[in-house]
Amino acid sequence: MSTYAWVTLATNDLYSLGALVLAYSLKRVSTAHQLAILITPTVSESMRNKLKDVFNVVQEVNVLDSQDAANLALLARPELGITFTKIHCWRLIQFEKCVFLDADTLVLQNCDELFEREELSAAPDVGWPDCFNSGVFVYRPSLDTFSKITQFALEKGSFDGGDQGLLNSYFSDWATSDISRHLPFLYNTCSTATYSYLPAFKQFADRIKILHFIGRMKPWLLNFNSQTRIVYTPQESGYLHPYLQFWWDLFCDNVHEKLTEDMPDFINQEEGGLAGALSKLRLGEPRSPEQEAYEQHIRRQCWESGNIDYTGRDSFDNIWARISETLSSAPPKPAETPKEPGSM
Ligand code: UDP
Ligand code: MN
Repeated sequence: MSTYAWVTLATNDLYSLGALVLAYSLKRVSTAHQLAILITPTVSESMRNKLKDVFNVVQEVNVLDSQDAANLALLARPELGITFTKIHCWRLIQFEKCVFLDADTLVLQNCDELFEREELSAAPDVGWPDCFNSGVFVYRPSLDTFSKITQFALEKGSFDGGDQGLLNSYFSDWATSDISRHLPFLYNTCSTATYSYLPAFKQFADRIKILHFIGRMKPWLLNFNSQTRIVYTPQESGYLHPYLQFWWDLFCDNVHEKLTEDMPDFINQEEGGLAGALSKLRLGEPRSPEQEAYEQHIRRQCWESGNIDYTGRDSFDNIWARISETLSSAPPKPAETPKEPGSM
């Protein structure tokens, strides 16, 4: 068996949905390597079983591991929680070399050649290209490196409060020392490139190997019609539609049938409740009350997280039309109740 592995991370059922789709995207391109996922205790039991079906290794990592002095010290730094969790990937020493992939990435073409690269190889970040984006990186598992990064985190922290700031400070010569550690942007094409540099996105779209849905707009948070199996893409992200649809196609063909109703759903209001809600949808069938409820919930969630489709469905005109419709269908004011005879 290969001693190389693709590694991802999910701290809840929501990101686990992304991890499942990512895993099937890797299988679709017939990778020769193993799949591993780091999870935290907050991933539901039911979701763990689904992850075990597709990942060769499902490794629980616990930030509260009292055996680990460094971990305990980190507890005083709650903002490093998620950062710390990703760093656990260095502990997968059963593998010789790994490629870490964020759960919001999607592999479009086989890229097993990434394992020919050395630690730490990554692609530039779109916001500050002298930093690498930590959504895709090649590394060598090692307990020694793990403890050095942990120690570094304790002493220096992270300049952006996340794993990207920490890893860029630790591997601080990435920008200048060795060009072979610069991965082409095609291995971590950030979804925001569709509006920050559209001509380049159109020019190179066919060559994208890994697409990364960075930012708040995650594929699983978009409205999806279970009858037509079509995802609703906000108007300003129109160029991303084929990729978002591909994510949902993989979801429908591989993941949906595996979800079970014992997963937490919106009613229980547990983290990642989407998985339970999605399990109740019947694909290809007329819209059910569950579908309506699901859509309402997602729409509201999008609004509340600032994902508002200003120029499309959530445009002022549509909102105004809805308000007018509601007002015009409002029941007429009840007529004044006649006074009781004899009352004042
Ligand atoms: N992640 C997670 N739970 C969270 C947030 C993040 O498991 O609540 C993991 C997941 O693998 C995710 C990665 O950490 O892909 C980085 O976060 P995210 O992708 O949301 O950051 P972005 O790429 O948008 O900066
Ligand atoms: Mn990401």
